[in-house]
Amino acid sequence: MHPNNRYHSPHDFPALAKVVPALADYFLKAPDGHLTLNFAEPDAVRLLNKALLLRDYGLKHWDIPAGNLCPGVPGRLDYIHVLADLLDGKKGKEIKGLDVGTGASLIYPILGHKEFGWRFVGTDVDDTSLKVASAIAKFNPGLAKAISLRKQPDRTAIFNNVIHEGETFDFTICNPPFFESAAAAAAAAEKKWTKLGKAPSPTLNFGGQANELWAPGGEPDFLRRMIRESVAFGQQVGWFTTLVSKKGYLKIAEVEFGKAGITDYRVIGIGQGGKIRRVLAWRGK
Ligand code: SAH
Repeated sequence: MHPNNRYHSPHDFPALAKVVPALADYFLKAPDGHLTLNFAEPDAVRLLNKALLLRDYGLKHWDIPAGNLCPGVPGRLDYIHVLADLLDGKKGKEIKGLDVGTGASLIYPILGHKEFGWRFVGTDVDDTSLKVASAIAKFNPGLAKAISLRKQPDRTAIFNNVIHEGETFDFTICNPPFFESAAAAAAAAEKKWTKLGKAPSPTLNFGGQANELWAPGGEPDFLRRMIRESVAFGQQVGWFTTLVSKKGYLKIAEVEFGKAGITDYRVIGIGQGGKIRRVLAWRGK
């Protein structure tokens, strides 16, 4: 984890259940006797993140539909701290970021604004996600002023349509859609459940999640398109960044950088334990 991440110590679950009482329904005793959460239940994960956002960031309201991608707050916060490093720790509303694919959770704009006071434009292709994200912003004083949302009408576009003429951003941030089709996303979700030894929960809406997690050509093509499109916006954006889920995809990025003549780029490792991921960051010419 990033040294400045506030979630280095294990969560105090009883304290969090005081904020969101339903969390107690998912308490588990680990074999060594310590209290943990039943992380296999998507609802437990959702409620935990809700409790963290309410308690630690003073949110009044935060919720996402069952079946939507539920972000883990500590992991998402690591990426925000990587950005803060790239920006030399600059804080305040003069700093503006573009969150590509902000999701229903609005997680990066919330964390970036609450930790550093940055302003955001969040984009998404999915109407339901935008509706939920906009409700979260509206019901939390302060967020609505700092965050605006834009619909990306073309699933294959990244910056086109959503960065306006003459507009500038200090950075872009993105947790890209991984799968190449809605069916592949649904199959992966079902496989995860089978691995847990359960039938897919009837209450879980794979449709919502599957719709969120795909892009034509999956993450590799999304990455290629993002780098190609970034060329035209090189003067308008300080740092382009995106998460890269697999190490092998960095080769794809290098090829695209070569074609685009981009030489100023870096890879920053984030995460902990077995779940190491990378933030890829580059600057236009
Ligand atoms: N930022 C959130 C959601 C990431 S999931 C989080 O970290 O949890 C990826 C998101 O990208 C989904 O919400 C999906 O609808 C959106 N998306 C897919 N293609 C997109 C595109 N071309 N432009 C903007 N958003 C896109």
